[in-house]
Amino acid sequence: MENRLKIYNSLTRKEELFVPNEEGKVGMYTCGPTVYHYAHIGNLRSYIMEDLLEKTLRYLGYDVRRVMNITDVGHLSSDADTGEDKMLKGAKREHKTVMEIARFYTQAFFEDCGKLNIKRPDVVEPATNCIREFIHMITVLLEKGYAYEMGGNIYFDTSRLENYHVFSGQDSDMELLVGVRDDVEEDANKKNKSDFVLWFTKSKFEDQELKWESPWGLGYPGWHIECSCIGIKHLGEYMDIHCGGVDNIFPHHTNEIAQSESYLGHKWCNYWFHVHHLNDKAGKMSKSKGDFLTVSLLESKGYDPLAYRLFCLQSHYRKPLEFSYENLDNVTSAYRKLRRRIGELTPEGEVEQEKFADWKKRFEDALCDDLNSSMALTVLYEMLKADMNDSTKRALAESFDQVLSLDLLAGEADGADTVDGELEAYVLSRIEERAAAKKNRDFAMADAIRSELAEKGILLEDTREGVKWKKV
Ligand code: AMP
Ligand code: ZN
Repeated sequence: MENRLKIYNSLTRKEELFVPNEEGKVGMYTCGPTVYHYAHIGNLRSYIMEDLLEKTLRYLGYDVRRVMNITDVGHLSSDADTGEDKMLKGAKREHKTVMEIARFYTQAFFEDCGKLNIKRPDVVEPATNCIREFIHMITVLLEKGYAYEMGGNIYFDTSRLENYHVFSGQDSDMELLVGVRDDVEEDANKKNKSDFVLWFTKSKFEDQELKWESPWGLGYPGWHIECSCIGIKHLGEYMDIHCGGVDNIFPHHTNEIAQSESYLGHKWCNYWFHVHHLNDKAGKMSKSKGDFLTVSLLESKGYDPLAYRLFCLQSHYRKPLEFSYENLDNVTSAYRKLRRRIGELTPEGEVEQEKFADWKKRFEDALCDDLNSSMALTVLYEMLKADMNDSTKRALAESFDQVLSLDLLAGEADGADTVDGELEAYVLSRIEERAAAKKNRDFAMADAIRSELAEKGILLEDTREGVKWKKV
């Protein structure tokens, strides 16, 4: 088969033609969630764009095997091996055991993914399943002289590598930040600042809940080792493409490469795919901040999770994206119109094969251009306006939806554009009640009214001329 996908590779900092190790087959790895809390819609932006990558590869005809880990141990509050274990923090917050927390938030994560039409990876493996494999890899790294024991912990010795900072010059600057940021304490056991923990037997947190026997004593793994081990376990010694959010580049992916290539003795993964962050007005959305947007929250405000998927697809994965309700309102309205438009297509006549092939190629070309999803959506809109019969348009929409996963053929949820008089009177009375609630500073009530109307497809907009509303 012909390789057509051009993709930006963070390793070479260039757009490159994607050529897998084995013709027609792709081994793809995704860093999974740390399951100490709900995923926020920022995390899910990364998973939506990775889902788009996987589905694009499948659409182009590759046989994809995708693997994802679940981080249920070892990820400390700071990515640089200090601070409290995130899982333990979650357990304390909810007065539960770490494993209860892990189970609950793993399930919640896949429920959110389901609502966003994110396909479940072929293999999902929790870190706590693979302790034996971690111990084996660490043993080999010690034998080969890439690791050392100090103060009860096992560390990776980054000075053994000629090029530890494989991704960019920027990483060295990031390294300097270690020890400067308030929340990052330097670990005196480390020979070099950038060394990292492979196995803890001693940490500041004696009450670490999950511990395992190892040749170095009772302890638990560092965070990075899991992705190297789980990747090699399920995809073999050569990986085609590895994904994550940009914050994973350093130190996580840098350390994964250091461990894996030292262990294997050869290059490990050829392409590195990184999704830029979703920000809100206050900056990067972050799980550890505690106060964040989830899919359930969007739903409780009446939004369709797939409108959020469309929101993400409208912009390129390599650009930061700013979230606002106003933008989501606009996308919601566009999404409903799009589904209605497609729902109105009458499947009459034969599919015009030449036209079908031509538009399919245009759609693929957009995706092959470094996953240009907004261009792919433009192709969809143009296709709907083009001169061909409805059957062909429907067949194309169905085909594009294998990648876009927007339930394009599910029809428009609540039909007509027109608003009947009864509904109008109701909306106006609720708007008045909302204004009264705001006046009384009862913002919870005001929000509840807004959400209730949103659920009915009525969106409110506070403008200088007063409250405007529309049915979407
Ligand atoms: P975590 O559960 O914290 O391990 O993160 C899960 C995934 O979400 C990782 O691939 C992160 O790089 C990614 N991520 C974290 N924050 C954001 C954000 N604000 N926008 C997009 N992706 C993010
Ligand atoms: Zn990872």
